[in-house]
Amino acid sequence: MICIPVTAGAHEEALRAAERSALVADAVELRMDLIEDGDLSQLMGAARRANVCVKIIVTCRRHEESLVPDEKNPVARKKEMTDKARTDLLKQAVLLGADFVDMELASGEKAIRRMKSFCHAQKSSTRIIVSWHDVSKTPSLAALKIIFQDCAKTGADVIKIVPYARCGADNLKVLRLIDYAKQNDQTIITMCMGEKGKVSRALAPLWGSYLGFAILPGGRPSAPGQMTLGAMKQVRDLLQDDSPEIPTGPAISSTQHFVLLGNPVLHSLSPLMHNAALPVMQIKEHYSAFLVTDIASAVQAIRGMNIRGASVTIPFKTDVMAYLDEMDPAAIAVGAVNTIVNHEGRLIGYNTDWLGLTQSLKERTDIAGKTFAILGAGGTARAAAYGIQKEGGRPVIVNRSQPRGMALAARFACPFYPLADISRVRAHGLINTTSVGMFPDLDQSPVDAALLKGYKVVMDVIYNPLQTRLLRDAEALGCKIISGLEMFVQQGAGQLKLWTGKDAPLALMKQVVREELKKREV
Ligand code: NAP
Repeated sequence: MICIPVTAGAHEEALRAAERSALVADAVELRMDLIEDGDLSQLMGAARRANVCVKIIVTCRRHEESLVPDEKNPVARKKEMTDKARTDLLKQAVLLGADFVDMELASGEKAIRRMKSFCHAQKSSTRIIVSWHDVSKTPSLAALKIIFQDCAKTGADVIKIVPYARCGADNLKVLRLIDYAKQNDQTIITMCMGEKGKVSRALAPLWGSYLGFAILPGGRPSAPGQMTLGAMKQVRDLLQDDSPEIPTGPAISSTQHFVLLGNPVLHSLSPLMHNAALPVMQIKEHYSAFLVTDIASAVQAIRGMNIRGASVTIPFKTDVMAYLDEMDPAAIAVGAVNTIVNHEGRLIGYNTDWLGLTQSLKERTDIAGKTFAILGAGGTARAAAYGIQKEGGRPVIVNRSQPRGMALAARFACPFYPLADISRVRAHGLINTTSVGMFPDLDQSPVDAALLKGYKVVMDVIYNPLQTRLLRDAEALGCKIISGLEMFVQQGAGQLKLWTGKDAPLALMKQVVREELKKREV
């Protein structure tokens, strides 16, 4: 598992970092000793809403176990907390349902056991990481084993031992410590801090360390030597010998300055739409679809070949976030990137799906003050909920599977109804974000026609076919209808605007896509 420590100095910045990290990592560590005025409940909520499966570790490190800030380790430390304040904070983490709380061995066996009893009394599943750090050296393997045994004596669920590497050989000591932990049937997190400890940071999780720590591009390390998440994943892929093949598909030539990264991309209409628009916008560059098997390499190619911009589609919209330098706040809120802008070597991730959806809705109806039922709870539903809320509307989530629907509703603090109860929903508009009714299932609809009567507007994000069964039923009942074609064109126009700063020729784009879809329908 890869964990990203949240080290941002101020609460608001930490909230964004927690959200962004939870989207791309297996675990996030909330470093409450570094976040000034950090509200633990809000930070945990932000991480969970972004990714219900993410593991949350709450840590409140003592000063003597974290490095003194310097140029290489610039994270400012806040005032040292008292033991009582630290314990209270960790108890709060337990009550809030953290997966792990980190206590230093130096807290003492009694304090650690008291925390265990507290977890037990609360019937909490929070586990305790008992940690030990040496910020100046790596002791001998024999000494590390004694420290390991001291940690084990406290009843630790997980032991964390992190010394400082002064030479390459120190890395081998922690790897051998992992073997020792395995012999003792004990879960361990270990690696070396410092530039010379980088090898162990990459290798230890593969060797058997429960976690490895990485940072997001542009993020602040909580300890020296931390690699970016992207670099760590690349090393992992290489060493596990199951690294995906080199991306196939057309090579990028110097005239192909915008690309689509996805898999599959063969039937994508984006190249047709963008290549119709670019010459009219007086932009000479070309847009090409690029079949990707390894998103990390594809992002490297964008950097290396100075590609101006990229669209990102299924299945990489979330994974790509790990490799970008910066993220637009809307992309973080939606939890997906569909557009990359290369800004003088810095890759910035955006999401224009929500923009496309709200733009096409706004052309037919007001959003502010109105309620919209959103069918589905996937990435597009998330974009829809974000966009509707941003425009002052009220989303209601309706989904087949309850856990997924409820998680999305919780994220946007809005009501949820199971799809089977859709007759109870009262709303101005209905937006289908499921794939029900998509080609070739032309006669399927996610909702019985009779239930559409109460809606003034019905939108389908599907654009193949141009008019789905849902839209045909809604039109017959007198509802205003909006096809997914509108959203597709608007999200594309949003991409072109981000890449070039110019307004896109919407009518032309719609025309070429509509004509192509009509040909395909024959
Ligand atoms: P996704 O993440 O896979 O989510 C799909 C959702 O549909 C899930 O909530 C799923 O419910 C639900 N669903 C699937 N089959 C269903 C069925 N038979 N009955 C009821 N519910 C069902 O997909 P996505 O990325 O959000 O994409 C959804 C659609 O949006 C795709 O058709 C895509 O092409 C389209 N899209 C269009 C545009 C555009 O520009 N027009 C842009 C982006 C996406 P469960 O949670 O119960 O599984």
